[in-house]
Amino acid sequence: MISIALDGPAGAGKSSLARAAAKKLGFIYVDTGALYRAVGLKFSRKGYDTELNCDIAGLLSDTAVDIRFIGEEQHVFLDGEDVNALIRTPEISMMASAVSAKPAVRAFLLELQRKLASEHNVIMDGRDIGTVVLPDATLKLFVTAKPETRADRRYKELTEKGMDVNYADILSDIKTRDYNDTHREVAPLKVADGGIVFDTDNLNFEESLKALMSIIEKEVEV
Ligand code: C5P
Repeated sequence: MISIALDGPAGAGKSSLARAAAKKLGFIYVDTGALYRAVGLKFSRKGYDTELNCDIAGLLSDTAVDIRFIGEEQHVFLDGEDVNALIRTPEISMMASAVSAKPAVRAFLLELQRKLASEHNVIMDGRDIGTVVLPDATLKLFVTAKPETRADRRYKELTEKGMDVNYADILSDIKTRDYNDTHREVAPLKVADGGIVFDTDNLNFEESLKALMSIIEKEVEV
């Protein structure tokens, strides 16, 4: 099986790029952030905030997260419910960031991610795919851009979906999540050994996709 790991900070364009590249290659696109978001939603529904003052292992033992593909689209199921439409809010972004720092949560989601990569050719996007989940991935890329560029993109994406959001809040959330992701003890966000840094700061989507496809064509025999 071929696996392409796409790691990088929030809003770097990983998911749009991974989705488009997977389509071109006929691979499955796995958005691992959605798994952390589903766990974040579960904790939020139980009434907890980002402090997570609760029995994490206990709550996880009563939680089921799964991914199913409907057409090409990934749907995340939480306790049997399709929660795709509920996990993209700023509140759940912050909950996902908080739960993702917990070793028990990372361990809980690890096998599901590895199983998907063992059964399909995948492009998997996340924070620790090349470092922890699939250290032997065929290709490991670290997609990045400046926080302001990433906040611009996220603002556009959310307002296009009709959400009432504020640019300054998005930028501050991105900076907080960057800090959390790079400073946590377990699986911090960093470039994997043998990983290639791919900076999309001065590239629009089409240019980024073109550059990504040429790296893949050069590095992977598809
Ligand atoms: O990629 P996305 O922004 O949807 O991810 C939500 C949160 O989940 C991130 O802020 C990050 O903290 C966490 N995450 C992670 N490891 C992954 C994917 C996401 O820690 N592989």
